Amino acid sequence: MAEKKKAVPKKVENNVEITEEESQKSIWDILSDKELLSVEETSLDYRNFLSANKTERVVASTILNWAAEAGLAEFEVSSNYARGGYMLHHGKLLGLYVPGRFSPSEGFNVVVVHGDAPRLDLKPKCLYEDLGLGLLKSNLYGGLKKFQWLTRPLALWGFCALKDGRSVEVRLGEDPGDPVLTVTDILPHLDRKVQRDKRLSEAFPAEKLNVLAASKPEGEFKKKNRLKSAILKILEDRWGLKQDDLISSELELVPAGPAREVGFDRSLIGGYAQDDRLNVYCAVKALLKVKHPYRPLLLIIFDREEIGSYGSTGAETNFIQRLVASSLDASGYEPRWLDVQTALANSWCLSADVEAAIDPTFKETHDELNAGKLGFGPCLTRYTGSAGKYGASEARAEYMAFIRQIFDKNSIVWQSSLLGKQEEGGGGTVALSLAAYGLSVVDCGAPVLSMHSPFEITSKADLWMMIKAIEVFFLSYGTLDQPKNTYGYYQ
Ligand code: MN
Ligand code: MN
Repeated sequence: MAEKKKAVPKKVENNVEITEEESQKSIWDILSDKELLSVEETSLDYRNFLSANKTERVVASTILNWAAEAGLAEFEVSSNYARGGYMLHHGKLLGLYVPGRFSPSEGFNVVVVHGDAPRLDLKPKCLYEDLGLGLLKSNLYGGLKKFQWLTRPLALWGFCALKDGRSVEVRLGEDPGDPVLTVTDILPHLDRKVQRDKRLSEAFPAEKLNVLAASKPEGEFKKKNRLKSAILKILEDRWGLKQDDLISSELELVPAGPAREVGFDRSLIGGYAQDDRLNVYCAVKALLKVKHPYRPLLLIIFDREEIGSYGSTGAETNFIQRLVASSLDASGYEPRWLDVQTALANSWCLSADVEAAIDPTFKETHDELNAGKLGFGPCLTRYTGSAGKYGASEARAEYMAFIRQIFDKNSIVWQSSLLGKQEEGGGGTVALSLAAYGLSVVDCGAPVLSMHSPFEITSKADLWMMIKAIEVFFLSYGTLDQPKNTYGYYQ
């Protein structure tokens, strides 16, 4: 196919002249009036998505519905994959495939994200009562700062599998007429011994994160466990659940209420689980928008990232191999072992996970020169890990150059960033699990303030730019040193 050269717009010329480090322009500086409207529309739709999808299971099922509506067919069930296919594993791990013009054996453009988020789960045996109150024992999920989860309205979202094969969905605390649950805290007048004089890491033991659930006793005065009975009666009346059913339930306590606009100027988005549902949203929107890509596309929404990616729905499984094999099969190729592995090794991958933005109040945790800033676009993070790059899958230079090329030539505002100072802590993403297949992978995601808190903050501009960045990536082909792209001006 012949290549057509179009005039390069002025904006791009400017970007080329100023190096990425020297550029002080944020996305807000370059948006046209029409683009500003699009930013607002996208932000509203995204906030609704955040508010309506608060567990990994609900996220997977919502995205599956979007994919099916767009014409993607279920792998191993359908026989027509003209628009693509999807594969859901254990209700929580979802893979999407969109065919390209090239054979899958030449490699896929892959975006991986995660749908789980830090939260409080309920323990299998969680009900108890004490001093006339009915309470629930919680269990931490992921790296949360425990004190942030006290004294705030919490909603209960869950999925219960019953012995007779039925399942029940639980949702409490999101409708304005619904009650909420909460974890109590001690008043400042009496907290000296239990909290104030202790180290922060010891002041809030996980076993004290007990959830207040009832105070009105059920049944006659002489009966025992009347508060437990009160809770059980509601579980039975509202959802048909018995106490033992809680053992086969996934019950998650999450911040109640909708995502909000933040700031006098409404330029920011505040809400729970934007790590990593912002990128889930962006990747799916981009995937469903892209028409006729050259290289076939994969999008995987992993679960369990926040607790190490282990387990049957995490990135440490062989799911991507099954997805690639099914995609080969769907496009008429024999999914031989060697072809699956070769396709993986030839694939390009963006691990779209959020980056910790530098916070003006806690500047000292970042190396300012290498810190991601809100409003300056997707953060390209060459490596994560802890001091000394331990546990990092560092992207190779050639792949970094490739991403720079496709972003710059398509007017993507992006930034180069690192998680924080070397010896300040550390973290990782699913990039590590993906790199094990030999594919080219780099972390690229929107910056977030107050990460892992019940109210994470992102920029509307970054959200909007992130969708474009993923779209550009999906539409790229050619070779790493000479990429081509069907997005925008870059043919
Ligand atoms: Mn994440
Ligand atoms: Mn996280």
